[in-house]
Amino acid sequence: MSVEPRKIRLLMHLRKSGITDTRVLGAIERIPREVFVPQAFHDQAYEDMALPIGLGQTISQPLIVARMTQALEVTERHKVLEIGTGSGYQASVLAKLCRRVYTIERHKPLLDVAMQRLLDMRIHNVTAKAGDGTKGWPEQAPFERIIVTAAHGGTEPPEALVDQLAVGGLMVIPMGTERRNQKVMRYRRTEEGIEREELWPVRFVPLLPDGQQEPASKAAGSR
Ligand code: SAH
Repeated sequence: MSVEPRKIRLLMHLRKSGITDTRVLGAIERIPREVFVPQAFHDQAYEDMALPIGLGQTISQPLIVARMTQALEVTERHKVLEIGTGSGYQASVLAKLCRRVYTIERHKPLLDVAMQRLLDMRIHNVTAKAGDGTKGWPEQAPFERIIVTAAHGGTEPPEALVDQLAVGGLMVIPMGTERRNQKVMRYRRTEEGIEREELWPVRFVPLLPDGQQEPASKAAGSR
């Protein structure tokens, strides 16, 4: 099957922007992003921008998905936890790269649509639940990798997620209370403790506990 020109352009843009991991590029090439955006935005599905998916949420910008996935250093042996399923796009990219993805979304209607998309695409290694992702998924822990796709307001990552990270594991998470001041952080759990690394500035919708209303917010996962 030939690759669409607009998809090739996006892949070239990702490569020029520092995405060198060919497995990550390959996964992005294989997942049709238009499936994850509303009909009205199909024309923009391969633009490097976040797009609305309803309920005030957005599908992240492709470059952010690619960078966060590359920073996660996923292998086919890994069990990965994702917080913030949204459209299901990031989960499906991860599904191509790892053994199993567990994903949690607080908005059940978004989750239902996302999971139906994955079924239609015959992606069978993603398990999902609706709920507060800041609590993680203790029954399935430990996870070799954890990715959070909404911004955590605290100065330390959610304790439950750190607890559920395997020794040797990596967690990639946007942190920061101010939308103008968010950074993607990477935490590595070692025998001795937690190593912390600052990656790059971003703008994500907030990570909110159950029951809390989101403020009027816009682009998730854009720069
Ligand atoms: N990864 C998504 C984009 C995420 S947008 C994609 O590929 O499309 C961030 C998502 O995180 C939103 O859908 C939002 O509802 C969800 N979210 C915010 N706080 C959450 C929480 N505490 N637990 C689970 N999901 C949460």
